[in-house]
Amino acid sequence: MFFIKEEKNMGNKAPVNKNEKLTVTIEDLTYQGMGVAKVEHYPLFIENALPTERVKVHVLKAAKNYGFAKVIERLSTSEQRVEVTENQYLQTGIAPLQHLNYEAQLEFKRTQIVELLSKVHLEGIKVAPTIGMTEPYHYRNKAQVPVRAVNGKLETGFFKKNSHTFVPLEDFLIQDKRIDEVIKEVRDILREFNIEAYDERKHNGVIRHIMVRRGYYTHEVMVVLVTRSKRLPMQEQIVEAIQAKCPDVCSIIQNVNQASTNVILGKQDKLLAGKEQIKDQLNGITFNISAHSFYQVNPLQTEKLYKAVVEGANLTGKETVIDAYCGIGTISLTLAAKAAKVYGVEIVPEAVIDAKLNAAANEIENVQFETGSAEEWMQKWEEQEIKPNVIVVDPPRKGLAESLIESAVKMGPDKIVYVSCNPATLVRDLQLFLEKGFKVAQPIQPVDQFPQTVHVESVTVLERAEK
Ligand code: SAH
Repeated sequence: MFFIKEEKNMGNKAPVNKNEKLTVTIEDLTYQGMGVAKVEHYPLFIENALPTERVKVHVLKAAKNYGFAKVIERLSTSEQRVEVTENQYLQTGIAPLQHLNYEAQLEFKRTQIVELLSKVHLEGIKVAPTIGMTEPYHYRNKAQVPVRAVNGKLETGFFKKNSHTFVPLEDFLIQDKRIDEVIKEVRDILREFNIEAYDERKHNGVIRHIMVRRGYYTHEVMVVLVTRSKRLPMQEQIVEAIQAKCPDVCSIIQNVNQASTNVILGKQDKLLAGKEQIKDQLNGITFNISAHSFYQVNPLQTEKLYKAVVEGANLTGKETVIDAYCGIGTISLTLAAKAAKVYGVEIVPEAVIDAKLNAAANEIENVQFETGSAEEWMQKWEEQEIKPNVIVVDPPRKGLAESLIESAVKMGPDKIVYVSCNPATLVRDLQLFLEKGFKVAQPIQPVDQFPQTVHVESVTVLERAEK
């Protein structure tokens, strides 16, 4: 497997031309889930094609160093293929691995980490088999669905990958089925009251997105109507109708986003009915979740992920722990029962409010949450001579800043538990920790948080090398 940009063609000209038709064998799968065929070392990237398959393709694009092609006919079929009746999901990126069987998906994710380690000569670090799901569909507890007009009718659906083509859809395959139902109900209510869908080109209309969250254990549902306009016409009637049709909806929020951007949520919220947060549980701890807070999207797998963190941290009750990038405090509160004190830091203020509420709701007193950047707070804590025994980091895709790694190392923890959602930045950051006297203590544990997609989540436990 490899990243598209790393491939180089030695010659000056592509050996294929746009619109050419040819037959090729798929040799590899990119990290984005595209099949790769080689024509005289020149890589052609092909959607919905798996290694070993012979396919007749039509060249869509022939750049100097790589091209894209589309399958016209599949001449042989991989043993790992799952036949799908429609391939919209593949095209859109909702489920780019839907055509690969689940066992192979789990191995694809493990292999990605193995290969990235091997590229920087860290073959010595082992990677455990990916922990998967029994039912790897309909797992997402959150949906953010665009709303557009198609032939004058308000529709909910998705955009095709890398395009502005909107396709109406009702079964999203990877979302909680109840969430799909609530989206349909809300869509029908908006139609009934003749509410206008957002029009991107003209930047007019009302409803841009419907966001729905559902507590896996509590079944509490939050509906967020993202509007371009400040006013939501027929607001009271819409709210009443949602409550009448969906009694499990206990939070209805209007979020105003007036910007011409593809960022989904704006800054301004209006609570239209019910509560500002819904509740859910993870490993028996209750969490309040606001519209703007990050909350892991796959609850069953999150429980497994956090168990791997708990095992990795191996606390006895005496330790001081830092949870950097703590979100609504899920990891902090999971570890608090086995620690003397837990410090958490998170950049989104609403999430920190949730985290504090969550500590109180679970009567957990040995935690302290701070609002701000993890980079700054780690430095502050280091200057305050806080001596954590264990530091947990769970950064976004871009990984850790070098300054944070330096502060972490200076604080002299025995262990660092790195929860990563991007193996490329994980491997980059591990190299720095290794240089600074840490070692990877046990095999890296991938946990499949996002079945049918290409995302790879993992837990790595680092220990001081001289121990
Ligand atoms: N550990 C939590 C959240 C992980 S997601 C959980 O398991 O649910 C990463 C979190 O980091 C998000 O909540 C995001 O808002 C936050 N974040 C992003 N950049 C940050 C930064 N520079 N400093 C602190 N938090 C940050």
